[in-house]
Amino acid sequence: MEDLPGIVITGASGRMGQMLIKTVVDSDKARLVGVVERAGHDWVGRDVGEAMGGAALGVTVTDQPLDAFAKAQAVIDFTAPAATIEFAKLAAQARAVHVIGTTGMTNEDIAKLDPCARHAVIVRAGNMSLGVNLLTVLTRKVAEALDEDFDIEIIEAHHHHKVDAPSGTALMLGEAAAEGRGVKLADVADRGRDGITGARKRGDIGFTAIRGGDIVGEHDVLFAAAGERIVLRHLATDRSIFARGALKAALWGQDKKPGQYDMLDVLGL
Ligand code: NAP
Repeated sequence: MEDLPGIVITGASGRMGQMLIKTVVDSDKARLVGVVERAGHDWVGRDVGEAMGGAALGVTVTDQPLDAFAKAQAVIDFTAPAATIEFAKLAAQARAVHVIGTTGMTNEDIAKLDPCARHAVIVRAGNMSLGVNLLTVLTRKVAEALDEDFDIEIIEAHHHHKVDAPSGTALMLGEAAAEGRGVKLADVADRGRDGITGARKRGDIGFTAIRGGDIVGEHDVLFAAAGERIVLRHLATDRSIFARGALKAALWGQDKKPGQYDMLDVLGL
């Protein structure tokens, strides 16, 4: 048990944080060695199992990330962009694999990960599930096979707490479609239509975000032409798919050279 890779979970009280804690505790391939919450959070100083409403797990929630990371082989982080950038610096200092599920990061945020990736392995993906990563491969292939007679639209739906749009997954799918077409997503993305927008521009990749209830995550990639449509769809019904993918990434990263990777690397897709 002692020689299993030690994992720290950040954002412990979050929806994904709690799912990640359960996933690591239930795994026979890793052990939970720390959980981090922000200073002032009422979980700090409590046993995390009890804070989650269950049996004690023997791990106390801390607001001192570096101390926790120093004892770990990997940090799994599904929090918020500002927190993730700080955690990346600390994980690099501790030489721990940093698995980043946080979405909504800007290009400037992502650039701040570069110096950290010189010292430690970073695995970052807007979606850690096997199904969605396979969907990105299929999207790239279909976009490559079809010309601009097919309009590409990405429609996503998530729960009403989600703060960023389009989802990280929708953007991953958009990148895959743009790559298949040999264009840059930034040049063709059509986001947030409202009012008299004019006719759709040929070659654009459109995004639509639906927010409601407790939807875990749904993504359609629509290829629409005159007379026919192809729809590639992924439906997530349980957050454990993201947590299992993240743990797989943490274990995969143990023997890799410092650098930035994504789930396609982890899954060998
Ligand atoms: P959530 O329930 O709001 O949890 C976020 C957690 O992060 C909370 O515990 C929050 O603490 C903590 N946090 C936020 N800002 C922080 C800061 N500055 N310092 C320390 N902790 C901070 O959200 P969620 O649904 O779990 O999602 C978290 C992230 O994961 C989102 O970006 C979401 O899009 C992403 N996600 C990714 C995947 C994937 O597969 N890549 C799948 C699902 C979700 P407080 O409660 O104190 O604010």
